[in-house]
Amino acid sequence: MSTIGHLINGKAVNDDVRHQAVYNPATGQAEKQVALASKATVEEAIAAAEAAFPAWRNTAPIKRARIMFRFKELLEQNAEKICELIGEEHGKIPHDAMGELQRGIENVEYACGAPELLKGEHSKNVGPNIDSWSEFQPLGVVAGITPFNFPVMVPLWMYPMAIVCGNTFVLKPSERDPSSTLFVAQLLQEAGLPDGVINVVNGDKEAVDTLLHDKRVEAVSFVGSTPIAEYIYTTANANGKRCQALGGAKNHAIVMPDADMDNAVNQLLGAAFGSSGERCMALSVAVAVGDQAGDLLVAKMQEAMQNLKVGAYTNSDNDFGPVITRQHQEKVVGYINSAEEQGASIVVDGRHPVVEGHEEGYFVGGTLIDSVTPEMTSYKEEIFGPVLQVVRVDTMQQAMDLIDEHEYGNGTCIFTRDGEAARYFSDNIKVGMVGINVPLPVPVAYHSFGGWKRSLFGDLHAYGPDGVRFYTRRKTITQRWPSAGVREGVEFSMPTLK
Ligand code: NAD
Repeated sequence: MSTIGHLINGKAVNDDVRHQAVYNPATGQAEKQVALASKATVEEAIAAAEAAFPAWRNTAPIKRARIMFRFKELLEQNAEKICELIGEEHGKIPHDAMGELQRGIENVEYACGAPELLKGEHSKNVGPNIDSWSEFQPLGVVAGITPFNFPVMVPLWMYPMAIVCGNTFVLKPSERDPSSTLFVAQLLQEAGLPDGVINVVNGDKEAVDTLLHDKRVEAVSFVGSTPIAEYIYTTANANGKRCQALGGAKNHAIVMPDADMDNAVNQLLGAAFGSSGERCMALSVAVAVGDQAGDLLVAKMQEAMQNLKVGAYTNSDNDFGPVITRQHQEKVVGYINSAEEQGASIVVDGRHPVVEGHEEGYFVGGTLIDSVTPEMTSYKEEIFGPVLQVVRVDTMQQAMDLIDEHEYGNGTCIFTRDGEAARYFSDNIKVGMVGINVPLPVPVAYHSFGGWKRSLFGDLHAYGPDGVRFYTRRKTITQRWPSAGVREGVEFSMPTLK
């Protein structure tokens, strides 16, 4: 059985005592194991990052960017291998894994603009012969803690930007599918990054807690479930660290009576079931406005779902793969059971899919549940599986109230042909990322990603312009060079420009 270790100070490290099995979710077999970093191993990574910081901080931004350009090329050259690694441990189908990688590469491309992004602000003559400017300095050692569902893209939201801003980085990927994350970081090392600038420690709570409590770590970026996001945010803050912690979601799509229903169904299919619904932007609730829209939506979805193909990542024709673990499979099925018990109607039942040759895989088929109400457990909580629930309301305002009242506020979408309704929706809805006839409104790399309410703890969103702000500290300098021999008088009042 092969062991997935760590990357510390430019070297592969693999001497931890504790290990955890890494499963292929399509076969249910443990084919690898991952080392779980001890406190000492994480401290070694932090020490390497701290040692690398002074020289890296003083490396010209254009030189940092050049390494990112090489990194981007290596990512493209190794795309197939990366997608294979994602498939083996996450179960993602190659076309979907390729989409994940491409979205990650776009963050690297944005980071290539470091010299422009770090230019700062300058004001001449703020006073007599006085100039003032703000510059954006790196923080030091920063840490990233990432979830299983985007093992390549989410880490790429973090470290390319952190590193081009002049920081050094310690990444703690998900222990459930760590290989692709580690391999991609090794490519960055290969692109010419000095040792210690990027470090990867695999592990669990022990590794995370070490990062959260170590004084040398200046900031923490986290993406994962809401309970852990809240824990990370409060602990990091209590330890004086800057923190952004992105959490879970329950993304609603409003289907208006005037929507192009065939188009809405196509969009909902991909957004609800793509990647087995294991996306924080997956559409998991369709809110149909009016009975006619509800009946039509359910009938058309039911018909379209007959063609859904769930299966192993090894067949590119499949639409989506298994969920991540046996335990998660049972949890998703449990939510479907609870919806049924609480009075909803299961229109398409994916609880027992047959995937020939993969009987031990963690598959859940596409599931459609009608007549879901807000009191049901399956409505309140994040399912994170290929399950679309339909809630029926009479008016658009009722649909918006439902969304606003939900604890999560990550993404949402409206399907309509009415521009006025769409504008009212985007203007007023209490959600961070909004789509208008766009089911997965994941911002491109030059905007920033983040939800509202309990989908994000912290002020700054991930990547894009907010990423630059998160990974830098503003310093404002005010400068005067008096002419030789000129002496200013003593001034006790607050300096002002008269
Ligand atoms: P998770 O919260 O279980 O794990 C995320 C990370 O936290 C992992 O690295 C894990 O090792 C670590 N962790 C887990 N338990 C911990 C503990 N008790 N103490 C310290 N660290 C701990 O999340 P997951 O299951 O890997 O990912 C799925 C979740 O992530 C979903 O809720 C999904 O919505 C969310 N997610 C959110 C976004 C977003 O941008 N908002 C993006 C992707 C995923």
